[in-house]
Amino acid sequence: MKLVLATSNKGKVREIKALCEKYEIVPYSELIDEFEIIEDADTFKENALIKARAVFKALGNDNFVVMADDSGISVDILDGAPGIYSARYAGEDANDKDNLYKLVDSIKEKGVSSSPAHYTAAIAIVTKNAEYCVHGWMYGTALTEIRGDGGFGYDPMFVPDGYDKTLGELDDEIKKKLSHRSKALSLAKRILDTL
Ligand code: IMP
Repeated sequence: MKLVLATSNKGKVREIKALCEKYEIVPYSELIDEFEIIEDADTFKENALIKARAVFKALGNDNFVVMADDSGISVDILDGAPGIYSARYAGEDANDKDNLYKLVDSIKEKGVSSSPAHYTAAIAIVTKNAEYCVHGWMYGTALTEIRGDGGFGYDPMFVPDGYDKTLGELDDEIKKKLSHRSKALSLAKRILDTL
Protein backbone atom coordinates (compact mmCIF):
# COMPACT_ATOMS: atom_id res chain seq x y z
CA MET A 1 0.00 0.00 0.00
CA LYS A 2 1.28 3.45 -0.88
CA LEU A 3 1.16 5.74 2.13
CA VAL A 4 1.44 9.45 1.42
CA LEU A 5 2.95 11.57 4.18
CA ALA A 6 1.49 15.07 4.57
CA THR A 7 4.89 16.48 5.52
CA SER A 8 8.18 17.30 3.92
CA ASN A 9 10.03 17.71 7.24
CA LYS A 10 13.13 15.58 6.53
CA GLY A 11 13.57 14.54 10.18
CA LYS A 12 9.99 13.29 10.42
CA VAL A 13 10.07 11.54 7.04
CA ARG A 14 13.32 9.76 7.99
CA GLU A 15 11.91 8.60 11.34
CA ILE A 16 8.55 7.51 9.94
CA LYS A 17 10.23 5.54 7.12
CA ALA A 18 12.48 3.78 9.64
CA LEU A 19 9.51 2.88 11.83
CA CYS A 20 7.13 1.82 9.06
CA GLU A 21 9.26 -0.37 6.83
CA LYS A 22 6.31 -2.46 5.69
CA TYR A 23 4.69 0.34 3.69
CA GLU A 24 5.82 2.30 0.68
CA ILE A 25 6.11 5.80 2.12
CA VAL A 26 6.07 8.83 -0.13
CA PRO A 27 6.22 12.46 1.05
CA TYR A 28 3.41 14.31 -0.73
CA SER A 29 5.92 16.73 -2.25
CA GLU A 30 7.06 13.88 -4.50
CA LEU A 31 3.56 13.67 -6.01
CA ILE A 32 2.33 17.27 -6.13
CA ASP A 33 3.80 20.73 -5.56
CA GLU A 34 4.17 21.66 -1.92
CA PHE A 35 1.54 24.11 -0.73
CA GLU A 36 0.92 26.03 2.47
CA ILE A 37 -1.36 24.34 4.97
CA ILE A 38 -2.75 26.63 7.64
CA GLU A 39 -2.67 24.72 10.92
CA ASP A 40 -4.98 26.95 12.89
CA ALA A 41 -6.57 24.51 15.32
CA ASP A 42 -5.64 24.48 18.99
CA THR A 43 -4.84 20.80 19.45
CA PHE A 44 -2.23 18.46 17.96
CA LYS A 45 -5.08 16.18 16.92
CA GLU A 46 -7.01 18.77 14.92
CA ASN A 47 -3.83 20.13 13.30
CA ALA A 48 -2.81 16.61 12.22
CA LEU A 49 -6.28 16.09 10.72
CA ILE A 50 -6.13 19.48 8.95
CA LYS A 51 -2.85 18.47 7.27
CA ALA A 52 -4.00 14.97 6.29
CA ARG A 53 -7.33 16.23 4.92
CA ALA A 54 -5.66 19.04 2.94
CA VAL A 55 -3.21 16.67 1.25
CA PHE A 56 -5.88 14.01 0.61
CA LYS A 57 -8.02 16.63 -1.12
CA ALA A 58 -5.12 18.10 -3.12
CA LEU A 59 -4.04 14.67 -4.39
CA GLY A 60 -7.48 14.23 -5.94
CA ASN A 61 -7.19 10.44 -5.92
CA ASP A 62 -9.40 8.41 -3.61
CA ASN A 63 -7.01 5.47 -3.64
CA PHE A 64 -4.36 7.18 -1.59
CA VAL A 65 -4.06 6.81 2.15
CA VAL A 66 -2.66 9.99 3.69
CA MET A 67 -0.92 10.17 7.04
CA ALA A 68 0.02 13.36 8.89
CA ASP A 69 1.94 13.92 12.09
CA ASP A 70 1.54 16.99 14.25
CA SER A 71 3.97 17.12 17.11
CA GLY A 72 5.77 19.36 19.53
CA ILE A 73 7.36 19.81 22.89
CA SER A 74 5.64 21.13 26.03
CA VAL A 75 7.75 22.49 28.89
CA ASP A 76 6.28 22.55 32.41
CA ILE A 77 8.04 25.74 33.62
CA LEU A 78 6.61 27.51 30.54
CA ASP A 79 3.07 26.31 31.27
CA GLY A 80 3.19 23.88 28.36
CA ALA A 81 4.75 26.21 25.76
CA PRO A 82 5.68 25.96 22.95
CA GLY A 83 3.25 23.01 22.50
CA ILE A 84 1.34 23.28 19.22
CA TYR A 85 3.50 26.32 18.35
CA SER A 86 6.77 24.30 18.47
CA ALA A 87 7.46 24.65 14.73
CA ARG A 88 7.15 28.45 14.82
CA TYR A 89 8.26 29.26 18.36
CA ALA A 90 10.94 31.73 17.22
CA GLY A 91 8.69 33.24 14.51
CA GLU A 92 6.89 32.25 11.31
CA ASP A 93 10.09 31.74 9.30
CA ALA A 94 12.09 30.20 12.13
CA ASN A 95 14.17 27.10 11.50
CA ASP A 96 14.92 24.26 13.93
CA LYS A 97 18.04 25.98 15.32
CA ASP A 98 16.22 29.30 15.93
CA ASN A 99 13.47 27.45 17.81
CA LEU A 100 15.98 25.43 19.85
CA TYR A 101 17.89 28.52 21.02
CA LYS A 102 14.66 30.39 21.77
CA LEU A 103 13.44 27.54 23.98
CA VAL A 104 16.78 27.41 25.84
CA ASP A 105 16.54 31.19 26.43
CA SER A 106 12.90 31.01 27.59
CA ILE A 107 13.77 28.39 30.22
CA LYS A 108 16.83 30.40 31.35
CA GLU A 109 14.61 33.48 31.75
CA LYS A 110 12.64 31.53 34.37
CA GLY A 111 15.86 31.30 36.43
CA VAL A 112 16.21 27.51 36.17
CA SER A 113 18.59 25.26 34.24
CA SER A 114 16.07 22.53 33.41
CA SER A 115 12.39 21.68 33.53
CA PRO A 116 10.22 18.60 33.16
CA ALA A 117 8.91 18.47 29.60
CA HIS A 118 7.27 16.09 27.17
CA TYR A 119 6.85 15.55 23.48
CA THR A 120 3.44 14.80 21.95
CA ALA A 121 2.75 13.29 18.53
CA ALA A 122 -0.70 13.08 16.98
CA ILE A 123 -0.91 10.96 13.85
CA ALA A 124 -3.92 11.34 11.58
CA ILE A 125 -4.86 8.93 8.82
CA VAL A 126 -7.33 9.97 6.13
CA THR A 127 -8.78 7.59 3.54
CA LYS A 128 -11.78 7.88 1.26
CA ASN A 129 -13.92 6.09 3.84
CA ALA A 130 -12.70 7.24 7.22
CA GLU A 131 -10.52 9.45 9.41
CA TYR A 132 -8.49 8.30 12.40
CA CYS A 133 -6.17 9.92 14.94
CA VAL A 134 -3.85 8.38 17.53
CA HIS A 135 -1.34 9.87 20.01
CA GLY A 136 1.99 9.07 21.64
CA TRP A 137 4.03 10.86 24.33
CA MET A 138 7.64 10.88 25.54
CA TYR A 139 8.45 12.35 28.97
CA GLY A 140 11.77 13.77 30.13
CA THR A 141 13.69 16.95 30.97
CA ALA A 142 14.36 20.03 28.87
CA LEU A 143 17.85 21.46 29.54
CA THR A 144 19.26 24.94 29.02
CA GLU A 145 22.26 23.21 27.50
CA ILE A 146 22.55 21.96 23.92
CA ARG A 147 24.33 18.63 23.62
CA GLY A 148 24.87 16.43 20.57
CA ASP A 149 23.80 16.82 16.96
CA GLY A 150 21.69 13.71 16.37
CA GLY A 151 17.91 13.75 15.87
CA PHE A 152 16.32 17.03 14.86
CA GLY A 153 14.42 19.98 16.29
CA TYR A 154 14.59 20.19 20.08
CA ASP A 155 16.39 16.83 20.49
CA PRO A 156 19.78 18.28 21.57
CA MET A 157 18.19 19.84 24.69
CA PHE A 158 15.88 16.95 25.69
CA VAL A 159 16.88 14.13 28.05
CA PRO A 160 14.32 11.30 28.07
CA ASP A 161 13.33 9.82 31.45
CA GLY A 162 15.69 6.99 32.42
CA TYR A 163 18.69 8.42 30.49
CA ASP A 164 21.37 11.01 31.21
CA LYS A 165 22.10 12.01 27.63
CA THR A 166 20.12 14.17 25.26
CA LEU A 167 18.36 12.77 22.20
CA GLY A 168 21.03 14.63 20.25
CA GLU A 169 23.67 12.40 21.89
CA LEU A 170 21.76 9.12 22.07
CA ASP A 171 21.71 6.63 19.24
CA ASP A 172 18.82 6.85 16.74
CA GLU A 173 17.88 3.29 17.73
CA ILE A 174 17.16 4.44 21.30
CA LYS A 175 14.94 7.29 20.12
CA LYS A 176 13.18 4.80 17.85
CA LYS A 177 12.14 2.77 20.90
CA LEU A 178 11.18 5.68 23.15
CA SER A 179 9.74 8.39 21.01
CA HIS A 180 6.29 9.93 21.02
CA ARG A 181 6.22 9.34 17.24
CA SER A 182 7.09 5.65 17.52
CA LYS A 183 4.39 5.14 20.15
CA ALA A 184 1.78 6.87 18.01
CA LEU A 185 3.00 5.00 14.94
CA SER A 186 2.65 1.61 16.58
CA LEU A 187 -1.04 2.43 17.07
CA ALA A 188 -1.30 3.89 13.55
CA LYS A 189 0.15 0.69 12.09
CA ARG A 190 -2.66 -1.32 13.66
CA ILE A 191 -5.12 0.91 11.80
CA LEU A 192 -3.15 0.71 8.54
CA ASP A 193 -3.15 -3.09 8.77
CA THR A 194 -6.96 -3.06 8.64
CA LEU A 195 -7.20 -0.87 5.52
P1 IMP B 1 4.91 20.25 13.06
O1 IMP B 1 5.68 19.92 11.82
O2 IMP B 1 3.92 21.34 12.89
O3 IMP B 1 4.31 19.02 13.67
O4 IMP B 1 5.98 20.81 14.07
C1 IMP B 1 6.68 20.01 14.95
C2 IMP B 1 7.68 20.86 15.71
O5 IMP B 1 8.05 20.18 16.91
C3 IMP B 1 8.98 21.10 14.95
O6 IMP B 1 9.54 22.32 15.34
C4 IMP B 1 9.86 20.00 15.40
O7 IMP B 1 11.20 20.34 15.32
C5 IMP B 1 9.39 19.76 16.84
N1 IMP B 1 9.43 18.32 17.06
C6 IMP B 1 8.44 17.42 16.83
N2 IMP B 1 8.87 16.16 17.07
C7 IMP B 1 10.16 16.30 17.42
C8 IMP B 1 11.17 15.34 17.75
O8 IMP B 1 10.99 14.13 17.72
N3 IMP B 1 12.35 15.87 18.06
C9 IMP B 1 12.62 17.20 18.08
N4 IMP B 1 11.74 18.12 17.75
C10 IMP B 1 10.51 17.68 17.42
